[in-house]
Amino acid sequence: MTSAVVVGSGPNGLVAAVLLARAGARVTVFEAEDQIGGGTRSGAAILPGLVHDHCSAVHPMAVGSPVLHELDLGRYGLRWRLPEIDCVHPLDGGTAGVLYRSVARTSAGLGQDAARWSRLFDRPAASYDRLAEDVLGPLLRFPRHPLLLARFGLPALVPASVLARAFATEEARALFGGVAAHAFLPLHLPLSASIGLGILTAGHRHGWAVAAGGSRSITDALAALLAELGGRIETGARIRSAAELPPADVTMFDLAPGAVAEILGDRLPAPIARAYRRFRHGPGAFKVDFAVQDGVPWTAEPARRAGTVHVGGTFAEVAAAERAVNAGRLPERPFVLVGQQYLADPGRSAGNVHPVWTYAHVPAGYPGDVTEAIIAQIERFAPGFRERIIGRTVRSARGFAAYNANYVGGNILTGAKNAQQLVFGPRATLRPYDVGVPGYYLCSAATPPGPGAHGMCGARAVAAALTYLDRQ
Ligand SMILES: Cc1cc2nc3c(=O)[nH]c(=O)nc-3n(C[C@H](O)[C@H](O)[C@H](O)COP(=O)(O)OP(=O)(O)OC[C@H]3O[C@@H](n4cnc5c(N)ncnc54)[C@H](O)[C@@H]3O)c2cc1C
Repeated sequence: MTSAVVVGSGPNGLVAAVLLARAGARVTVFEAEDQIGGGTRSGAAILPGLVHDHCSAVHPMAVGSPVLHELDLGRYGLRWRLPEIDCVHPLDGGTAGVLYRSVARTSAGLGQDAARWSRLFDRPAASYDRLAEDVLGPLLRFPRHPLLLARFGLPALVPASVLARAFATEEARALFGGVAAHAFLPLHLPLSASIGLGILTAGHRHGWAVAAGGSRSITDALAALLAELGGRIETGARIRSAAELPPADVTMFDLAPGAVAEILGDRLPAPIARAYRRFRHGPGAFKVDFAVQDGVPWTAEPARRAGTVHVGGTFAEVAAAERAVNAGRLPERPFVLVGQQYLADPGRSAGNVHPVWTYAHVPAGYPGDVTEAIIAQIERFAPGFRERIIGRTVRSARGFAAYNANYVGGNILTGAKNAQQLVFGPRATLRPYDVGVPGYYLCSAATPPGPGAHGMCGARAVAAALTYLDRQ
């Protein structure tokens, strides 16, 4: 019987484990922490009954993921819930950019920019499920749908700041810019629009879904399927060297490239080891989870109905904040993401006390406390928020690195998404999952198609591993 080892139990590791087990392998997963799930862990943290997502929260990419769909995780309890409004980007003065799942409804709210928003998203969103075959994998290969990809891909090459200038209203510019900022990149760089366009297109097709009961439901469903297929998971099992790995026909690393270089040492070809050690990690995150009496009193009414609120002011302010954190400086007003998952999934609240998920973009490894800056940013668009806070927990950039070794310097994307790393992954190759040692593969979010709880990096890496096994 074929044997497989997976190191790391994030969504990519678990998807890889499930697909290998389904292909007939005897699979063992080694997870460093006591809890499985990596960036898809959730639980109580402030008050009993209040459910917080410790990392990922909102899942436009996972709900439309071809592999999660194919695994039919609904059979293992995964249920997606959609908020009434996907995302709101409030501005001073009480106006806001409002993103609905429907392109038409979103456009209708954007005044002079209605036609521009429709032109950008109508056709890509309608064809997203076919487009996903091309964009949710290595970008450097012959696409299955070249025309479709070209229509989507041309705007994605352009810097976000250039695309934003095509919009006439500050609401549309800011709405677009807030989503583009998910890439943690300076927004004037080439390809800085691509991650935002991907999220917006996926969202217009599938919605900004949350997992009922918390993102850990994604983990739980994958773990249940793996158990049914005979796979095993060992927790508290941090792999530090190749000597700790049991012999196996294939070994998958759901890890940052630098960790693979440490584990495999001189077994890695020297140029690959060098590329992995030089792999760049971007800015970090500083997260505050709040318990909030009666929710956040946003001035812009749609924000009270939105699963996600982007807090950062105008496009120019968001762009300046992203430039600062990439240059190693904490801006006075950082870009803050706010998650109100309970609006779609009320079971996460305790009566009228609601879990509110927030994080700010901060410089890599930032040692300081950003809680007050986050509260001030939210207060700016929701006066009275501070008085409603009845509890909070904090995880700093350094805390993230300790919580999950893949988050080097608190970088929650498992690597900077600059043009080179976005297109190639950790090294310049057409085979980004291949670590250069036969039978060993990298399957984490450091590889294409990159971050998110969609599991597609795991699926693509397994496709490479199964081709290798077939040839043995
Ligand atoms: C605050 C935050 C907010 C986010 N928001 C979103 C969001 O809303 N939507 C979204 O789609 N994505 C979001 N993400 C990103 C998403 O969580 C990640 O992209 C995703 O989890 C990556 O999955 P992965 O399987 O590649 O790795 P991870 O989920 O990082 O899992 C890697 C696993 O490997 C384990 N590990 C590391 N080193 C070792 C070792 N040496 N031995 C054994 N095990 C090891 C880790 O403990 C971890 O369990 C967010 C992340 C964070 C932190």
